Amino acid sequence: MLPTPVPDASATHQVRGACPHDCPDTCALITTVENGRAVRVQGNPAHAQTGGVLCAKVSKYAERTHHAERILTPLRRTGPKGSGQFTPVSWDEALGDIAARLAHIAARDPQAIQPYSYAGTMGLVQGESMDRRFFHRLGASLLARTICATAGGEGLVHTLGAKVGMKVEFFAEAQLILIWGSNSIGSNLHFWRIAQQAKRDGARLVCIDPRKSETAEKCHEHLQLRPGTDAALALALMHELIVHDWLDHDYLARHTLGWEQLRERALQWPPERAAEVCGLPVEQIRRLAHDYGTTRPAAIRLNYGVQRAHGGANAVRAIASLPALTGAWRHRAGGVLLSSSGSFPVDRAALQRPDLLAGRSPRTINMVTIGDDLLRDASPSFGPKIEALVVYNSNPVAVAPDSRQVVRGFAREDLFTVVLEHFQTDTADYADYILPATTQLEHWDVHLAYGHTDVLLNRPAIAPQGQARSNAQIFRDLAARMGFTEPCFADSDEALCRQAYGDQVDFDLLLEQGFAPLSVPDAPFADGGFPTPSGQCEFYSQRLADQGLDPLPGYVPNHEGAGTSADYPLAMISPPARNFLNSTFVNLQSLRDIEGRPLLEIHPEDAAARGIADGALVRVFNDRGSYACHAALNGRARPGVVNGLGVWWRKLGHNGTNVNELTSQALTDLGAGPTFYDCRVQVEPLAS
Ligand code: SF4
Repeated sequence: MLPTPVPDASATHQVRGACPHDCPDTCALITTVENGRAVRVQGNPAHAQTGGVLCAKVSKYAERTHHAERILTPLRRTGPKGSGQFTPVSWDEALGDIAARLAHIAARDPQAIQPYSYAGTMGLVQGESMDRRFFHRLGASLLARTICATAGGEGLVHTLGAKVGMKVEFFAEAQLILIWGSNSIGSNLHFWRIAQQAKRDGARLVCIDPRKSETAEKCHEHLQLRPGTDAALALALMHELIVHDWLDHDYLARHTLGWEQLRERALQWPPERAAEVCGLPVEQIRRLAHDYGTTRPAAIRLNYGVQRAHGGANAVRAIASLPALTGAWRHRAGGVLLSSSGSFPVDRAALQRPDLLAGRSPRTINMVTIGDDLLRDASPSFGPKIEALVVYNSNPVAVAPDSRQVVRGFAREDLFTVVLEHFQTDTADYADYILPATTQLEHWDVHLAYGHTDVLLNRPAIAPQGQARSNAQIFRDLAARMGFTEPCFADSDEALCRQAYGDQVDFDLLLEQGFAPLSVPDAPFADGGFPTPSGQCEFYSQRLADQGLDPLPGYVPNHEGAGTSADYPLAMISPPARNFLNSTFVNLQSLRDIEGRPLLEIHPEDAAARGIADGALVRVFNDRGSYACHAALNGRARPGVVNGLGVWWRKLGHNGTNVNELTSQALTDLGAGPTFYDCRVQVEPLAS
């Protein structure tokens, strides 16, 4: 193995890396280092998907890394929970005390210890390697990491067979692109560049989104449907494909399962019915069906916005079925892409070592319901009360739904909480110990992507700042303190990078150029061969039928549909503010200055009915909580729907709240995912 390069503290040099953030683009980075300090982070022009360009957020990564508020030493709590009062302590003291506390709890029942992590880094090493080994060896409760994508993922798995789809680069050759549930300009920038290329070459771009986003404004057409009604629209498109015979009968016969049943289902959805449900003009639905049925090649860039409502998985099933009706898959520029992550041959057993469970089967806690679960007492059905929580790569006090409950849980004096972090987030305020973690510029990692098919390697560009340690190192140290002697706890971060793909990916190529393309066919399903049990695109899923679930894609109404409550007549979605990435970057002044202040986009008619002027401070509320922010009458909200842009840190917003004060812990139809965009509210002016 090559030795770890020791960053040259005196010279100016550049180091190749990978963006760690939860974004489909997974850009290749080049960090310029001067005198041991990162001075610039840019896109790697040699990586085709990055094209030398980063988004505005990660262009600030050097500022974030050297931020004056970085946590650089272990901290121990000195004030009440949530007060944010801490004192520096040594690593020795912190690790010793944490290990002793965890060992004490584990002696009674290790399932009372709960890890909590998500995609604060997407890196396989710092996100899902030594941490999992540690918790598996301990026998801690498992975590269902559901908070973003499981409903959509299940939808894909039960239709196409895996999280796979079109290769993103070939959208450039499409003649029609549906951008469905995505503000690509804000959250899939490099796809947008490809779509622009297609547009220049004559493609028609159609955006389907409840919000008139920056992307919707730049498309040829925008279907501004009600939240959570995407499946109804997809079924109506199928209806029109059938009645006008815009079908590829040969493809349907050879490569699909359940066509007759789906046909019967779709014929129940004339455009008039869907128009009623979706709140769209019937002519707009007909026109879209005509365009989709008669344009070749036609491509769908689906994103995760559609699946954050009760029927999210069914919506993805319905949309992902469309290309098989028209045979769009025959062309490399036809089909659908939600996620490519299933293409990556990650050796998770090697990284995570589930064998360390040694036959034990701990319970699994769903991260979406952490608010309720932290408040549950021990019971035969639940198991032990959660006594310790170890949070890393996540900021649940800000990002988990129903945050009033989440805060109540984190505030429990009898809960021992450890948080690995870069900054003192809303969650870190509730920690007993905060442990300083390295940023992407300070550690090794290796990545998959969910918006393209290249593996990326991240080399450390600078030394760890202060006393920061990588996540893997922190769990390695904790394992040593707990007396775990298995050799796997000695694996270095570089060794873990190599284990992630074994011999499936050329590690020398990763070392040489920073990225390595997977070998994926250009048109993966041109001749069928779907990775489903039947090998066909499964309109009808026997696996769902066996679970007593609807085996066909269907429309599942929202838990909290628009106009279904007199008290809370508005539907709210909470898409990301353009300059934040979930709750990351909110504490960067330069980006917060661009974003301005927490906003609720509201239609002028809804605002006028409530006496709300543009810019006014408003209270948004429902039975779960109340959130103060400013009204934006900017033309982006449709009547009856408000857009609460997220995710502000609670302590950096108004009144110590953010939009998740309003969202619920209700789950999706499949995948037990969150329903952030399925939320009823009322809005009223608030005296400032
Ligand atoms: S576009 Fe996405 S992957 Fe690229 S730098 Fe920005 S957050 Fe990272």
